[in-house]
Amino acid sequence: MTSNNKNIGNDTARERYGKLYNCSRWRKLRLQQLNKEPLCAYCILFDERYTQATVVDHVIPHKGNLELMYDPDNLQSLCKFHHDSYKQRLEKQGVNAIGCDIDGNPLSLDHHYNK
Ligand SMILES: [Zn+2]
Repeated sequence: MTSNNKNIGNDTARERYGKLYNCSRWRKLRLQQLNKEPLCAYCILFDERYTQATVVDHVIPHKGNLELMYDPDNLQSLCKFHHDSYKQRLEKQGVNAIGCDIDGNPLSLDHHYNK
């Protein structure tokens, strides 16, 4: 293990799945989801507010699983605030070694997805 390892983090995980998010199939699916559910699900659920959703989130983290990634029933629309606060909550809980972030990227740097 070298000092290069300190640069490995969510960016690496994001890079790993970046091409999944950049493909036209995902972009189309994302737009379909935002057209279908243009409002943030959490704002309605928790705050009874109507906020335009800008982030399409995977309910079950796809971890690179293409079936989950492209499953329209596995998507929910969120506003940036709820997407980010969900992520922060995960980090605050110290789930760094277990589970995935909201994009389905494993939090553990030792996870084989990150190698
Ligand atoms: Zn929201």
